[in-house]
Amino acid sequence: MKIKALNTYLTSGNEPLIIAGPCGAETREQVLKIAESLSHIKQVKVLRAGIWKPRTRPNSFEGVGEEGLKWLAEAKEKYGLLTTVEVANAQHVELALKHKVDILWIGARTTVNPFTVQEIADAIQGVDIPVMVKNPIHADLQLWLGAIERIYNSSITKLMAVHRGFHFSGKSKYRNKPLWEIPIELKTLVPELPIICDPSHISGNRELIFDVSQKALNIGMNGLMIETHPDPDNALSDAKQQITPDVLSDLLCKLQFRQANTNNPEFTNKLNQLRQIIDEVDDELINVLRKRMSVIEEIAKYKKEHNITAFQLERWQEILRTRPQWAEKLGINRNHIEKICQLLHEESIRVQNDVMKK
Ligand code: PEP
Ligand code: MN
Repeated sequence: MKIKALNTYLTSGNEPLIIAGPCGAETREQVLKIAESLSHIKQVKVLRAGIWKPRTRPNSFEGVGEEGLKWLAEAKEKYGLLTTVEVANAQHVELALKHKVDILWIGARTTVNPFTVQEIADAIQGVDIPVMVKNPIHADLQLWLGAIERIYNSSITKLMAVHRGFHFSGKSKYRNKPLWEIPIELKTLVPELPIICDPSHISGNRELIFDVSQKALNIGMNGLMIETHPDPDNALSDAKQQITPDVLSDLLCKLQFRQANTNNPEFTNKLNQLRQIIDEVDDELINVLRKRMSVIEEIAKYKKEHNITAFQLERWQEILRTRPQWAEKLGINRNHIEKICQLLHEESIRVQNDVMKK
């Protein structure tokens, strides 16, 4: 894809793009008040506000509609911030364009539906407006990529992805689990596509926003979108996760903004030395894996001779119980080792099956 990096297009150089504003526009006063406060925070370039709110249940606050677009236009005029709103159908696009919204975003509930994404893509065809695509609700990278491609195919080149976490049915401290490996995989597949993080929808509560934001910056994300409200406790939607402009300002000062690269030769030398050690360790690891595989092949032959199954539950349970314990004693995270054991076991069964087929 030939994407114009939205962050460098909107900010000078490689500065991260900071977007802030309420979950939803509620009243003219609220929008103007938040815009005024945000205009004093130098890092904030874009004012966000949901105008049409996708809600899980009916009869919740569903947004103020077109009226809110006029408040945003007024805020932009008075305080010089760019504006962004969520669009979920062709009519939203038409109204957002009519009211001169600067950037459109596609929400998580829309990204899941290729019909709707295509409807939006058709509605913006030929308009040179930047678009941000949030990840789909569930952890499906292809669906996220597909939505980005549909918008790109409509000649939109100022594109950006927004990582807002993924629905997770188990227990989690997050409202939406970050699953950092998914945005990292997206970056690997489309390196030129900027990705910003929405720590508000990942966290679901104020307390986690700083940590999630710092993690996003640590892995080199290109900016943050943070829900900010003049009176968060009384917000009509997502009250628990919104913060005041003062808290935002403090948070932006405390965050460590990291660079992807440096020209400092001392740093580069030291990093290269450490990478050489990693290369050697990986080489050793691969040799150890080869050794393990040879033993597995021998076991498979032996089992075959004695007509014994490849999979043996008790042995597998023992591996799964002991390895994380061994690892933990050495200060290695047990989940990490559990995942590695799963992979080793899957491959071991595959190889044993192959041997037994012969
Ligand atoms: C929002 O940004 O307010 C929103 C509805 O987000 P998401 O689509 O990520 O749930
Ligand atoms: Mn919200």
